[in-house]
Amino acid sequence: MDSAEVVVVGAGAAGLALACRLGEQGRQGVVLVEAPPGPHSAPERTWCSWGTDPYWADAVSARWERMSVHAHGGARRTYDLAPLDYTMIRSRDYERVAAARLAGTEVRRVEALVTGVEDGPSGAVVHGADLSARWVFDTRPTRPAAPGRVALLQHFRGWFVRTSQDAFDPGVAGLMDFRPPQPPCGVAFGYVLPTSRREALVEYTEFSRSVLTTPQYDAALRDYTSQLGLPAFDVVGAEQGVIPMTDAPFPRRLGRRVFRLGAAGGATRPSTGYTFRAAQRQASSVAQALWDGRDPCPPAAYPRRHLTMDALLLRALDSGELDGAGFLADLFARHPTERVLRFLDGQSTPREELAVMASAPRGPMMRTLLSRRRA
Ligand SMILES: Cc1cc2nc3c(=O)[nH]c(=O)nc-3n(C[C@H](O)[C@H](O)[C@H](O)COP(=O)(O)OP(=O)(O)OC[C@H]3O[C@@H](n4cnc5c(N)ncnc54)[C@H](O)[C@@H]3O)c2cc1C
Repeated sequence: MDSAEVVVVGAGAAGLALACRLGEQGRQGVVLVEAPPGPHSAPERTWCSWGTDPYWADAVSARWERMSVHAHGGARRTYDLAPLDYTMIRSRDYERVAAARLAGTEVRRVEALVTGVEDGPSGAVVHGADLSARWVFDTRPTRPAAPGRVALLQHFRGWFVRTSQDAFDPGVAGLMDFRPPQPPCGVAFGYVLPTSRREALVEYTEFSRSVLTTPQYDAALRDYTSQLGLPAFDVVGAEQGVIPMTDAPFPRRLGRRVFRLGAAGGATRPSTGYTFRAAQRQASSVAQALWDGRDPCPPAAYPRRHLTMDALLLRALDSGELDGAGFLADLFARHPTERVLRFLDGQSTPREELAVMASAPRGPMMRTLLSRRRA
């Protein structure tokens, strides 16, 4: 069995971010383990987030300074995002930039299907990769440690479309379009992320309890693209995904020397599904702690108050008490855009959160709060 100082399991968003940072420290004995191509390796995906992370600027494939929200049965409004922006990173570009960063470092890449990680007093063992290590950071997707009170899913399918004529404004991200029919509990919306006048990622997303079949997503996308009034187009690619929206716990420390990082380590914001930026923050913080010689447990991705607020919102959505489409469209209409974006990114102050929560419909939120206490 080979021994290492640090083993990072999984070369996705979080694993690559951590490996790159450790490599740049000139650290010896870092091994990045990735599953061989197949059912366990992550498919290609597109990550969008608020604000450009300078560290990954070379991987950004599109950037928008304005966004639009289309209310259900209402008007479309456009908002300036300054001083933030909305950026798109495709996983293949991220991997390309990460590979270039790792090329000049001591980080060793290993292809192996990790089957388990076992903590020990002086080191941990990574089964399947035949490695022992002082520290292990595991980013393999996982289930929560215990069931939550609410377990909604953010599930979606997107088409990369190419139209026969100019059809998109590449300066505006169509972020939430609530015109699609709304489910009885939860919310449904369309998404249009144009990368040129004729190309865009068009998505159909639901926050609800169960996923659809691919033909059902395709039917929803056909309805949505006809609602958009697109000219003739080809679908040149597709991506589909499911992100858990739950108040269930995702522990970051599994033992003295074993930690979880990224989505597996609670980096997914329960109420929005955004994960990418929080995973970056966790990776930077772990790298800094190792550099400083401190305990490298990844920090909580979000303050407890955000998780409490999210749990309430999710429960109100799940029970059908809250009109999700109305609430989300109103959020942008009633608040300064910067406040909403910081709120969605988990970077808002308690004062901003109070303002946001105060604008939520009082009856549904009170009923949810009381039913939560009684439950
Ligand atoms: C289609 C899709 C789109 C998304 N879009 C966004 C977005 O726009 N913005 C956002 O903030 N979040 C988004 N998310 C959520 C989240 O950002 C991503 O899931 C992100 O990839 C999580 O990063 P991660 O490193 O924690 O996990 P992953 O990126 O999933 O990385 C886990 C890694 O572990 C590897 N692995 C798995 N099993 C094994 C094993 N047994 N042995 C070795 N390696 C293994 C996988 O191959 C993978 O490389 C999206 C999720 C999906 C599915």
